[in-house]
Amino acid sequence: MIGFGYDLHKLVEGESLILGGVFIESNIGTLAHSDGDVLLHAIIDAILGAIGEGDIGEHFKDTDPAYKNIDSAVMLAHSLRLMRDHGFELVNCDSTIVLEKPKLSTFKNEIRNSVANLLGLPYNRVNIKATTNEKQDSIGNSEAIVVYSVCQIKEIN
Ligand code: MG
Repeated sequence: MIGFGYDLHKLVEGESLILGGVFIESNIGTLAHSDGDVLLHAIIDAILGAIGEGDIGEHFKDTDPAYKNIDSAVMLAHSLRLMRDHGFELVNCDSTIVLEKPKLSTFKNEIRNSVANLLGLPYNRVNIKATTNEKQDSIGNSEAIVVYSVCQIKEIN
C-alpha cells in the first residue's frame, strides 16, 4: 500500500528552519504551532494515508496548547506506532522539498540520515530531493516551503 503527504508552511524571519530533525542554517524559518518540521509533517501524512488514519491535524490539533512547539519526531513516532498496530511496516519513503533558499545541497545527506534514523529504515530506503520553484509564486519568493512525500508500507509477516 502507499500513502501520500503534502505540507506547506509560511517562512518568516526570526523562526528556525528544521527539516527531518536537522537544524538548517537560515535567516528565515517556518511559522508553526509545532516545531514546524514541514518534511516530517508530510511524511507523517503519507504514513497516516497509507493506513487510512486520516491526517496529522486529526491526531494533533494545532489549536491544542498541549502540542505547542511539539517535536515533530514525537508525532512521527506516534504515526509509526499506529502503523505497526495496523500490522504494517515501512518499505521506503521518498520526499521532495520545494524551497527557494537556503540551498539544501550541503544539508541533504544529513537530512536523509536523520529521516532514515527516525523511520528506522536503512539509508537506501529513504530519499530526499530538493528543488526550487524557479522564483515563481510564494515559494519562489521565499514566503513558503512545501514538501511532498510518498511512503510504501507492507504487511508485517
Ligand atoms: Mg505542518
